[in-house]
Amino acid sequence: MLRISELKLPVEHTPEELIRQVKICLRLQKGAPEPEITIVRRSIDARKKPELYFNYIVNVQVKNQAEVYRRCDKKRVAVWEERPYRFPVVSYKGKERPVIIGTGPAGLFCGYMLAKAGFRPILLERGKPVEQRTKDVQEFWERGRLNPESNVQFGEGGAGTFSDGKLNTLVKDKYGRNRKVLALLAEAGAPKEILYDHKPHIGTDELCKIVAHMRQDIINMGGEVHFGAKVTDLVCAKGHVEGVIVNGSRMFEAEYVILAPGHSARDLFQMLYKKGISMEAKPFAVGMRVEHPQELINYAQYGRGEIKSLGNASYKVTARAKDGRGIYSFCMCPGGFVVNASSQPGLLAVNGMSYSKRDGSNANSAIIVTVTPEDYGRAHPLAGVAFQQELEERAFKAGGGAIPVQRYGDYRKALMEEEEYEESRCGKDRCQETDKGRAPSPETVKIPDDFLPAIKGRWCFGPVHEILPRALGRAFVEGMEQFGNSIRGFNDKNVLVEGIESRTSSPVRILRDEKLQSSLKGLYPCGEGAGYAGGITSAAMDGIRVAEEVAMAIAKSDRSE
Ligand code: FAD
Repeated sequence: MLRISELKLPVEHTPEELIRQVKICLRLQKGAPEPEITIVRRSIDARKKPELYFNYIVNVQVKNQAEVYRRCDKKRVAVWEERPYRFPVVSYKGKERPVIIGTGPAGLFCGYMLAKAGFRPILLERGKPVEQRTKDVQEFWERGRLNPESNVQFGEGGAGTFSDGKLNTLVKDKYGRNRKVLALLAEAGAPKEILYDHKPHIGTDELCKIVAHMRQDIINMGGEVHFGAKVTDLVCAKGHVEGVIVNGSRMFEAEYVILAPGHSARDLFQMLYKKGISMEAKPFAVGMRVEHPQELINYAQYGRGEIKSLGNASYKVTARAKDGRGIYSFCMCPGGFVVNASSQPGLLAVNGMSYSKRDGSNANSAIIVTVTPEDYGRAHPLAGVAFQQELEERAFKAGGGAIPVQRYGDYRKALMEEEEYEESRCGKDRCQETDKGRAPSPETVKIPDDFLPAIKGRWCFGPVHEILPRALGRAFVEGMEQFGNSIRGFNDKNVLVEGIESRTSSPVRILRDEKLQSSLKGLYPCGEGAGYAGGITSAAMDGIRVAEEVAMAIAKSDRSE
C-alpha cells in the first residue's frame, strides 16, 4: 500500500477531484486500473481564508506498486504497512465472568472487547436504558423534576450520551486503540467520516442509537447488562475483591471487577474511601459556559458564514492568567445547546451538547480555569469533590434551581475595576488560538442587546458572577479579554455567561499499579471517574486497555489452575 500526505483540495471539491489528484500525485498513466483509495485523515486549512482547503492523507492500493512508487514524488508518497489493532486473547472458553461497574464509554468498550473475546462480562449500571433515560432527561429539562439515578450524568452510555459527541483526543495512539474505538463506533452506526476527520463528532441523536446498538451486541455475544443496578458496596477478603453488592442487597460474585463509574459517582467514591482503597485529590478545571451567535464564530474562523461542506465552525483558545493559572475553552459545541447536567438535588452543573447537524443558531463552549488541590481548602482525597459541590450549590442558588444566565458585560463589571479590566485586555501575548493556521478575521458580527441563550432546561437571568471564588472569576474575565484579541467579539458585553461548569474531569484519582489494579487486587479503576481519561474517546480507549489487562490476567490464572 502507498500513503500520500498533503493532498490539498478546495473544501467544495467533488469525490472525482480527489481521485484525480491521487492519480496526478502517483503519476498514473491514462488507462491504468483505478486506484483503491482510503481516506486516513482530513483536516481544514484556513490559512488563506476566506479560501478554505481540505488537507488529506490517503492510503492507496495500486497494481504494480513497486513500479508506481519508483516513478512518483517521494516527498509526499511512502510505502505503508497498516498495523491493525489486536486484542491479546481471542477466544476464552473458561468460567470467569468479569463484572463492570458503569456503562459509559469506558465500561461499554471494556465490556464489548471482553464479550467479543468470550468472557461474557456482567455490566452493572445504576441508571436506565437510553430510551427511558432520554424521557427522564426531557422531563427534567422541561419541568425541573430531577431523577438522581437517571439524568445527564447517570444511565446507559454514561455522561457523554447527551453531548456533542466530539471524538478527538490528545492521547497518543501507539497501540491502535483510538482507531479501534472509532471503527467500533462506525460499526455501531456512526457516520464513516469519523474514521478520518481531524475533529470527528457524532451528536447526541446518533450517540443514543449507537450505545443501544453496542449494548445489544454485548448481550448477543453472551454478556449481561443490568440497569437500575447501583453498586453500593464491595466484598473483599485478604486484600482481594470477591464481588460487589448492588442496591444494598444483591451480590454478584467476581474476582475481576472493573470500576468505570464516571466523575459524578460521588457516593461510590465515598464508599471506596471508607473501604481504604488508595486514592488522591487531583487537579481539574472549573468555569462558565459562554454563548455567542454561531455566525460570529463562522466569520472569525472561515472569514465567511456557514459553509455547507464544513458545517458550523468550532474554536479552541487558551490563555494564561497573571497568577499563572491556565484558562482554556473546553467542549466547544458549534450550533449546540447548553444543558442542565445536574445529578444531585439542590446542586446545579451545566455542560454542552449538539445534534449531529450542529445547526443551532448559537455556539457554546466552557471557558475554564485550572484548579489544584491547594484550591480545595483542605487536604483530603475527596476535597475536590466537596469543592465542586460547594460551587454547584452556589449555582443552584443563583438561579433558584434554574440555570443562571448573565451578560458578560455585567459579569465583568461586577468583578473588575476599570483599570484592571484595561490591563487584562493587554494580555495578548499570553493568548493563543490553538486551531493552527487560523488568523483573526477582520469580519465580525454584532451581538444584539436581546441575544438569547439556547438552553435545554429552565433558565433565568441571575448573579452568575457570585458563583466562582473571586480569584477564579477574575481569571475567567482575563481569559475572555485575551480571547477577544484572537476572535473578534468574543468578549462582547452581550455574550451570555452561564454556570457552573464544574464536571470537566474527575477531581479524584483511584490509584492503580502497572497491571492497572487498585490497592485492592482484582479491582481495576478505569476511565474518567477513576482519573485516567478525559472525554469519550480517551475513556473508551482506557476501557479497551483495561479489558486487555483483565483478559490476560484471567487467561493466565486459568492456565495456572
Ligand atoms: P461516564 O460516561 O460518566 O460513565 C459512568 C457510568 O457509570 C454512568 O453511566 C453512571 O450511571 C454509572 N455509575 C456511576 N456510579 C455507579 C454505581 N455505583 N453503580 C453502577 N453504575 C454506576 N466528552 C467528549 O469527548 N466529547 C464531548 O462532546 C463531550 N460532551 C459532553 C457533554 C456532556 C453534557 C457531558 C456531561 C459530558 C461530555 N463529555 C464529552 C465528557 C464525556 O462524556 C466523559 O468524558 C465520558 O463519558 C467519561 O466516560 P466514563 O465511561 O469514564 O464515565
